[in-house]
Amino acid sequence: MNAVADALAYRRERIRVRGTVQGVGFRPTVWCLAREMGVRGHALNDGDGVLIDAWAAPHVLDAFVQRIERDAPPLARIRSVERSPETTEDEEAPASFTIDASASSEGRTDIAPDAATCPRCVAETMDPFSRRYRYPFTNCTHCGPRLSIIREIPYDRATTSMADYVLCTDCQTEYEDPADRRFHAQPIACHACGPRARLVRTDGRVVCLDTLTQLDDVDAAGNLILKGEIVAIKGLGGYHLACDARNEQAVTRLRERKRRYDKPFALMAPNGEMVGRYCTVSVQERAALEGPEAPIMVLRARADSGLASAVAPGQRTLGVMLPYTPLHHMLLKRFKAPVVMTSGNLSDEPQCTDNDEAMQRLRPICDFALVHDRAIENRVDDSVARVVDGEVRVLRRARGYAPAPIELPVGFEHHRSVLAMGGDLKSTFCVVDGPRAILSQHIGDLHEATTLEAYQRSLALYEGLFEHAPSHVVLDQHPEYMSTKTGLERAEREGLGVLRAQHHHAHIAACLGENGWPLDGGPVLGVAMDGLGLGADGALWGGEFLLGDYTSVERLGTMKSVALLGGEQAMHEPWRNTYAHIVAQMGWGVFHMNFNELELHQYLEGKPLVALNAMLAQGTNAPLASSCGRLFDAVAAAMGVCREHVSYEGQAAVELEALVDEQCLLHESDQLAYPFTLPREQGKGLPYLEPLGMWNALLGDLILKTPVPVMAARFHKGLARAIAHAVRILATRDEERYVHHVALSGGVFQNAVLLEQVSSRLKAQDFTVLTHRHVPSNDGGLSFGQALIGLAQLQQPRQGEQ
Ligand SMILES: [Zn+2]
Ligand SMILES: [Zn+2]
Repeated sequence: MNAVADALAYRRERIRVRGTVQGVGFRPTVWCLAREMGVRGHALNDGDGVLIDAWAAPHVLDAFVQRIERDAPPLARIRSVERSPETTEDEEAPASFTIDASASSEGRTDIAPDAATCPRCVAETMDPFSRRYRYPFTNCTHCGPRLSIIREIPYDRATTSMADYVLCTDCQTEYEDPADRRFHAQPIACHACGPRARLVRTDGRVVCLDTLTQLDDVDAAGNLILKGEIVAIKGLGGYHLACDARNEQAVTRLRERKRRYDKPFALMAPNGEMVGRYCTVSVQERAALEGPEAPIMVLRARADSGLASAVAPGQRTLGVMLPYTPLHHMLLKRFKAPVVMTSGNLSDEPQCTDNDEAMQRLRPICDFALVHDRAIENRVDDSVARVVDGEVRVLRRARGYAPAPIELPVGFEHHRSVLAMGGDLKSTFCVVDGPRAILSQHIGDLHEATTLEAYQRSLALYEGLFEHAPSHVVLDQHPEYMSTKTGLERAEREGLGVLRAQHHHAHIAACLGENGWPLDGGPVLGVAMDGLGLGADGALWGGEFLLGDYTSVERLGTMKSVALLGGEQAMHEPWRNTYAHIVAQMGWGVFHMNFNELELHQYLEGKPLVALNAMLAQGTNAPLASSCGRLFDAVAAAMGVCREHVSYEGQAAVELEALVDEQCLLHESDQLAYPFTLPREQGKGLPYLEPLGMWNALLGDLILKTPVPVMAARFHKGLARAIAHAVRILATRDEERYVHHVALSGGVFQNAVLLEQVSSRLKAQDFTVLTHRHVPSNDGGLSFGQALIGLAQLQQPRQGEQ
């Protein structure tokens, strides 16, 4: 083609790509496509994403853009592609396609989450002829560490914990070659130039490797696990404690030493196929297991698994993940069964990240540790997800998910920058600046001093990474939350505005937000089934029907308020809730008269009832709470499940769910489901779920010695039926339905049985049901909801500000 015809046939276009498109191999992909399709021009990173200047025939440009969207690298998340034609009169098409140096405005772009090792890197690590054979830190632009190693922006090797490792010539060549899948992969390394893994004794004595392996330290660690040892493993975002999941003694020893008595341990299986031997795995679950997020998936356990019973006591499910770093792949290569992989800490403390600190803290738990010298800059726990009602739902959002941005719904464009501080349990924070919200990884329970430190460290990091300077903080209304206190201190120090978001309103807002409910979408009926949160009236809430939107809600209904006997103690000792419920519903006299033959009666009589009654009478240390979580505690304890105490939050509800008899759940008549009524409170006239009928039926079933799984099913069904009934009544005014959308949120909706039951019953009544998928329904999602409420208030001048 001659030059004139060439120029005529070509058109110049500017292609703007927004989203997570930096540090994920996006430009090289564009470069390869351009070369293949004969497109000329260049691509560069700037503050808004990737900018492409392209010359080609119009139909080629169309195809080029299609291919960019279709063949984007696996970790890229394209939010939008905008095309604008440019005049070509003054400028000639360049001779080829190049990748240009980044524009200086680089900065406010997305940081990709850590990603599980891609199949090609796994293959290289396992290939004896590859130069990365058994190299535990193999990675490329499609996989490997991101958030866990970054110190500051821009995301560049020099600003990560790889800064001290100078690339060898081979790695340098890969790093500079746009055709290589390691082009600009910041954490790349190899045996010659990168970090190493080594097996150490936690007491500092020398390990004699020769007796353990002929391969390397990672293999030696694997052999120790097979011999029944507990071994600490430094991974991507923290330490794990690992032991053979078939070895009852080892698992029990790990429980005792870690002081984690009941909460199920997570497992890591060598491959997806093996997971199928221990659990039933659907296609959807398998895809989630094998995705780059590689979460712990909660799966239905097979009955004859052959695993130690101490792995997940009282559960019908197992939490299983696949290896997500080359080190894990190497470690598990020869294993014929899963290993326990639980976070490397004492119960409740955050995961260790620092080598020396780890040795000190882990010494009482294990003799050996597989460590490495790539520093963990940010602690990132394993994420947890579960398929419920046909959707993958994230229960703990951390590795693989954070800090991927969450798009804000329509109407939030006139953004202000806010910082939402979250709750105190399962804490997260959320920064919003621009059209997206960045929800932090799960950090943990802030009562622990070390967790609070981790929270503050992560907060400082995120604000640096996203160059975030909030004008306002958004806080829970609870004055004693550490998150609230931390936010207030910050606001005072820096003169920031303070906004408040009621706990359950924030749950509902989070659910609306992740479902893209527009700011002016009108009211929905929010059902928040939760543990405890401070209500708008200063009382403790935890089972609420709220009508409204992001800006405000009206409380239309609630659960019955029952005393928390002994305050905080009622959270740890479920029987206290049983007693409080029985007294509140029928009174001890009636219970004694009708049900004194019950073992439950004898059990409760053995408690210090005089003291408890005095507390009830005087209302001291017995605050009223309309909590759904405590109702679950009360019911479980009545059936003899977790009666005396629980060792982790929500344990009684979790175990009650695990007991549910499925035949009964699916096929028994609704007539046998435990009944609730919906009377109105005296005075305020607020409708509430009255459980007296439920208790009579349950206690009657106890007399009949009905199996616990049947009772558990009847309770779940009864509660779901009651919630759906309440929604129908509350959504109707003057015999007409005036609200059609229902949002389900709160920690209790982690319960798969309840969520499925409520959701299907509402759908059968023609409601559109909004539920959580990407953001946890528990307090892990609270900060996202707070942020939305804060933004909504700021868009309404002179409202909400203190
Ligand atoms: Zn890779
Ligand atoms: Zn190298």
